[in-house]
Amino acid sequence: MKAITVRSIELYPIAMPLVEKLRTSFGEEPFKAAVLAALTTEDGITGWGESSAEINPGYSYETVGTSLHVLREFLSPALLGKTITSPTEVPSLLSAVRGHPLAKHSLEAAVWDAFAKANGLSMSEAFAAHLPAEHRSRGFANVGVSIGIQPTVEATLDIITRRLNQGYNRIKLKIKPGWDVQLAKGVRERYPDIMLMLDANSAYTLADADHLKQLDAYNLLMIEQPLGYNDIYEHSKLQPQLQTPICLDESIHSANDLRLALELGACRILNLKPARVSGYTESLEIYRICVEHQLPLWIGGLLETGVGRSANLAFASLPGVTLPCDISATDRYYNPDLTEPPFVLGKNSTIDVPTGPGIGVEVRMDRVQEAVKRWNEAGVYQH
Ligand code: MG
Repeated sequence: MKAITVRSIELYPIAMPLVEKLRTSFGEEPFKAAVLAALTTEDGITGWGESSAEINPGYSYETVGTSLHVLREFLSPALLGKTITSPTEVPSLLSAVRGHPLAKHSLEAAVWDAFAKANGLSMSEAFAAHLPAEHRSRGFANVGVSIGIQPTVEATLDIITRRLNQGYNRIKLKIKPGWDVQLAKGVRERYPDIMLMLDANSAYTLADADHLKQLDAYNLLMIEQPLGYNDIYEHSKLQPQLQTPICLDESIHSANDLRLALELGACRILNLKPARVSGYTESLEIYRICVEHQLPLWIGGLLETGVGRSANLAFASLPGVTLPCDISATDRYYNPDLTEPPFVLGKNSTIDVPTGPGIGVEVRMDRVQEAVKRWNEAGVYQH
């Protein structure tokens, strides 16, 4: 493989209006914010990555502000001028900085993209090069759709019907205390057989175990992250009380977190967000553990723009990703997105992975500049 040398890194804070706002148990943001990293090599190849931090430290402690700070002051300088023979070297180059996985992921993803382009590989081929031969990309990812908290069960059913008609075959609903059992019951009355799952985003405590047991009656694919955002221990106390598999999301930050969760029996499914675990190198290690333990695995989403989503889609096309992913078609998120062409939903609730070099989509600089202008004009951080 041909090595790359990092010549420059540009950072772009962006604001993107969402086609449809997503209300979760921790609220709603006015638009999707992110920081894009564009890394250019000595050979003039540019790779792109995305730090999908939000405005508020809600899903993660990282924000657009912390991402910009840590990327500018610490992470980018650690890569500038470096010659990289494999993208899997990036975590050790960035290891002087503790934490900040979303920011680290943006740079690592930009390296994967540049490296893949320099070697004429698609992103999925670049990933598969680090896995056994039978783990080559399927060329598509199985996908589902996530639906935020709505004012009524009827309103939720209307959206579910629309999504099913569009061709999505797995429905995920955000829940919170007071918006859970009745919702599951109402949806199951109308749709007894659809692939249905719930995501609590850490809205419950172990004291809610008896209440959560009621959800076992509704044939759910899983319940995602019911307890503390950093908790593994209490999930290990809850899982044996539920028939419904628990899927961990927020509390798995590394391969070792997953090893601990498996040893304690804290989950039966994993939602892997490559950004949450610092990047694709750690994601590949987590992937190997899931394959070894036959743990059902899917790829989550952080409302990434086409920059982040295209690479996640490539990862999601690997055969060890066994459940539908939170990666929907472009029209569900942005109109227009920052990249072309848009991702469209194919048959059997799938999305095809781009086959061109790197992320395989064109980043439209005019739209990036507009999104930066939008971010600057929004004046989000006033103090
Ligand atoms: Mg989740």
